[in-house]
Amino acid sequence: MVKKLCLASCLLTLGMAVSANSPMAPADRATFAIAIHGGAGTIEKSAMTPAKESAYRAKLEEALNAGYSVLESRGTSIDAVIAAIQVLEYSPLFNAGKGAVYTYNAEHELDASIMDGKTRQAGAVAGVKRVASPISLARMVMEDSPFVMLSGAGAEEFARSRGVEMVDNAVFDTDVRREQLDKAKEKLDRQNTQDKDYQASVDTLPVAYRMGTVGAVALDQHGNLAAGTSTGGMTAKRYGRVGDSPIIGAGTFADNRSCAVSATGHGEYFIRYNVAADICARVQYQGKSIQAAADEVIHQVLKPAGGTGGVIVMDAEGNVTLPFNTTGMYRGSRQSGGKAEVGIFGDS
Ligand code: ASP
Repeated sequence: MVKKLCLASCLLTLGMAVSANSPMAPADRATFAIAIHGGAGTIEKSAMTPAKESAYRAKLEEALNAGYSVLESRGTSIDAVIAAIQVLEYSPLFNAGKGAVYTYNAEHELDASIMDGKTRQAGAVAGVKRVASPISLARMVMEDSPFVMLSGAGAEEFARSRGVEMVDNAVFDTDVRREQLDKAKEKLDRQNTQDKDYQASVDTLPVAYRMGTVGAVALDQHGNLAAGTSTGGMTAKRYGRVGDSPIIGAGTFADNRSCAVSATGHGEYFIRYNVAADICARVQYQGKSIQAAADEVIHQVLKPAGGTGGVIVMDAEGNVTLPFNTTGMYRGSRQSGGKAEVGIFGDS
């Protein structure tokens, strides 16, 4: 899925006169693009009803279009990433915000991060329980504090101090996630898990019980990239566990000189392999395309190590690649002038 549009400069080079009010005004012809994901995992068509599939596709499209509208009206890639992610955070279908998975202790602990490719400014929150939109709190940390990451009670106190509306943790409850927790706990308890083996035991759970996350990457008409990620983490995670999603370089990365990445998958591997930053480093220092770099990291580095998941990646020309090493990944992209394209399974 590669697309390069001729920019306004092409028209000027060709000496074509373009009136500012014309539908072909240069400002309207700049390349912009957005891509999103709603989590990777064991997602199979045979296990999904047609109604559920269309609900997922519709919500992915809505999120893409929310981000696209921001870009179309010359908004920033940061605003577009926030707009797209918030649609998914407020939907019970995805593991972020409203649809977040439960910890072993039956609570929700949410993580999110955002990065600006122009400035390499970044903001992140980890383990927040009472903030409706963790991605917007991550943005506040980036723009309104000298820090990159705030966690737990400190992050919530910061949110309150900035007038963010606090909600009850039960706001994030859903029956589906509760059932997933109950099943996961049954399995863990049957194994009579010792504390030291806890993560290993969580690893034995079927992937469908434990994964999900949402994210977005965007290129705006000013030529700036941004990336953001928001998650409830992994089902039955130990309280206090933090995955890759709020970690800059692991789950989220953006730099105009290389690419923007948002990841989803088994966070411990994404942290240890520094996945998002590694992909962009291969682009920047080895001159690889985003597709080559992302394929290498997802299929040749992560998979042999046992790390399952996927990434969405965009370069500074609006090219997009969306590789994953699981059976499916909720995903989509939309480029300037094009239609929203969404996919769920391996073949679409
Ligand atoms: N990466 C997330 C985490 O480990 C989970 C996921 O994307 O499925 O917390």
